[in-house]
Amino acid sequence: MLDPGIDAGGGPTLRIRKDVPLAPLTTLGVGGAARFFAVVKDEARLAEALAFARRAGVPVFALGGGSNLVVSDGGFAGMVVKMAIPGIEPDAERPGRVSVGAGVEWDEFVRYCVRRGLAGVEALSGIPGSVGGAPVQNIGAYGQEVGDAIACVYACDVATGEVVRLGRRACAFGYRSSVFNGGGRGRRIVTRVVFDLAPGGAPVLGYAELQRLFAQRPAPTLRQVREAVLGLRKAKGMLRDPDDPDSRSAGSFFKNPVIAPGEFGALEEDARRRGVLAPQEAVPHFAAPGGGVKLSAAWLIEHAGFHKGHRRGRAGISRKHALALVNGGGATAGEVLGLARAIQAGVRAAFGVELDIEPVVV
Ligand SMILES: Cc1cc2nc3c(=O)[nH]c(=O)nc-3n(C[C@H](O)[C@H](O)[C@H](O)COP(=O)(O)OP(=O)(O)OC[C@H]3O[C@@H](n4cnc5c(N)ncnc54)[C@H](O)[C@@H]3O)c2cc1C
Repeated sequence: MLDPGIDAGGGPTLRIRKDVPLAPLTTLGVGGAARFFAVVKDEARLAEALAFARRAGVPVFALGGGSNLVVSDGGFAGMVVKMAIPGIEPDAERPGRVSVGAGVEWDEFVRYCVRRGLAGVEALSGIPGSVGGAPVQNIGAYGQEVGDAIACVYACDVATGEVVRLGRRACAFGYRSSVFNGGGRGRRIVTRVVFDLAPGGAPVLGYAELQRLFAQRPAPTLRQVREAVLGLRKAKGMLRDPDDPDSRSAGSFFKNPVIAPGEFGALEEDARRRGVLAPQEAVPHFAAPGGGVKLSAAWLIEHAGFHKGHRRGRAGISRKHALALVNGGGATAGEVLGLARAIQAGVRAAFGVELDIEPVVV
């Protein structure tokens, strides 16, 4: 597999390999190979990899922990850079400020913060992936979003090779969105993330499940909240565990849809008329920022007839969470995406709502 014959052209340190299978580097475990592949441990090697891709005239894809990806069966006909920049560096002059390399595992960083009493990311315990991948879709869980704890992000412009600093506002964090995904996807590669955490701060209990758990235990510590979140995640198959087939997924496969308030009443009425909803039944919904109505994608999926544990060939729905599509063993990307399309069509037919796919299809 190693291909020592390819000269990265600039430095002796960057090893570029050819035809590297990507499935084992992702949590879902599907898809083909990368035409070129390099592990990048610092900014200089990243620049070398980008220069190589420019000379070869191929596109570049930044790979973190592979936990939010569906690699297509045809693989990627370009250069995959596996981000491995290390380092968790506290700022000696500014308590709570920590600069972290893009290659650090996200949960290792959360553990670091909780141990040192730094509040701001404890509810994001157990999310798989890398620190560099976290701002891309502004990871969120249990009432916390990473964007709120980020001071700035250093990122390399793929076209020019220049490293730029983006302050929190320039990152444009929204629900599962930022300047690094959507229209801007692939333009910049995150090399470091600088966090502003609260030394000695109280944990966030912004989610009903957590509030219930701590109803009898006022003022929980960061460590207690972390443990509680890890427990909740494990029960839902949302913690990576080689022994749990329900965690062989890309996390939530669909985003919670947000609709206009005016559309919500019509949606409920229609669903009742079609018999999807009983006369007294209501569609669960929450207020979304910006005045919209956020619906639960998991609820819509189950009420459209796709239940936990549903199987379609070698792909399926997790037995623990209706939002997670799993690789039941040897599934192809085609099978997983086929199931996703069937679910989208089912929800559209039952509720007239469009479900957007959350993971990135490569
Ligand atoms: C079991 C499970 C549970 C999950 N739970 C949650 C959850 O609770 N909340 C949540 O928000 N997400 C969740 N996810 C999704 C996923 O963990 C996050 O989106 C994570 O941040 C992805 O990071 P990654 O390093 O694995 O990125 P990858 O999957 O490797 O890549 C995802 C995207 O980010 C880009 N990317 C990665 N690294 C960089 C970089 N350094 N610079 C630029 N772009 C980059 C890639 O190019 C790609 O477009 C879950 C996933 C799994 C498998």
